[in-house]
Amino acid sequence: MDEFRRGDVARRLSAMIRERAGDREMTFMEVCGTHTMSIARNGIRELLPESVRLISGPGCPVCVTPNQTMDRAVALSRQPDVIVTTFGDMMKVPGSSSSLDREHARGGDVRIVASTLEALRIAEKNPKKWMVFLGVGFETTAPTVAASLMEAKHRGLKNYSVLSAHKVIPPAMEALCVGDVRIDGFLCPGHVSAIIGSKPYEPLTRRHGMGCVVAGFEPLDVLQSLLMLVDQVKNQKPAVEIQYTRVVKPEGNTRAQKVMDEVFEVDDSAWRGLGSIPMSGLRIRDSFAAWDAEVQIPVEVEPQREPKGCLCGEMLQGKVRPPECGHFGKSCTPDDPVGPCMVSSEGTCAAYYKYSIRG
Ligand code: SF4
Repeated sequence: MDEFRRGDVARRLSAMIRERAGDREMTFMEVCGTHTMSIARNGIRELLPESVRLISGPGCPVCVTPNQTMDRAVALSRQPDVIVTTFGDMMKVPGSSSSLDREHARGGDVRIVASTLEALRIAEKNPKKWMVFLGVGFETTAPTVAASLMEAKHRGLKNYSVLSAHKVIPPAMEALCVGDVRIDGFLCPGHVSAIIGSKPYEPLTRRHGMGCVVAGFEPLDVLQSLLMLVDQVKNQKPAVEIQYTRVVKPEGNTRAQKVMDEVFEVDDSAWRGLGSIPMSGLRIRDSFAAWDAEVQIPVEVEPQREPKGCLCGEMLQGKVRPPECGHFGKSCTPDDPVGPCMVSSEGTCAAYYKYSIRG
């Protein structure tokens, strides 16, 4: 990776951005938590002129998952004979009044898994219990979760189920195009685009004149992508371009898309901060209803409440930056988080905290 981290090339790209952007104000949004982290870790903001502003969007799947999903997972974990499994990031995410971590401390059977295969194994070893996998993520993780449901069906494993909170990114980006935050272009997510390709971003350019560059994650990837966006704005030629050509193809990974399509169908979905966005979620198809936790294990879910003073919702729309939240670094830290943007290893608040960005 060294060639994508060369300081001399970074300085040259930075100078080119400075020269080409001039005084013209431009705001670009990254829509991927890994970009948020890369930008903070590599001090990318410091390499940009004042006129070029970077804001974070709804790119962290943990952060955009609304409380009602966490509340349902918590309610499921309180059921007798239910094992809830999830990836580690979700454990500390606060719901309205509890979290999976707290339910685990209270004796609930909540387990962290490294893969859906591990979740399948747990289901197999516990045939008298329902095993619920909390499926959170974008198009990057949805294919593996879909594959686990296909595998459960294939093996006749009746006690495996998924609580699907999967989301698809382009509709959320479209919602932001008509929102009240000015955005001149998107740094499009590299991992998601490896699956969906770059074509789903074309309506954003066609309908909203939005620049879109699919970016890699190393510092030179990000700087080159920003230069491409600056050029698009300067030349008034918004387009969908791929900078991350070593991984992303315009058509994406058609095999993964097929797997996803067999198990999930797009449906309206609630996003933290953005509300309900049409056709932005992945619900389990009726043909897999026997493995759908929402269908198979009905639970009463408490009314949703947001933590007082937490600005995660505004953060995910690019309206505020972490230091503008009164909790930041005081009552909200990675060890004792108030909102999901501080919990997730890819959350904007966690990135600002970890790399001591206070201004
Ligand atoms: Fe929410 Fe904490 Fe971020 Fe404030 S600092 S927005 S409370 S996660």
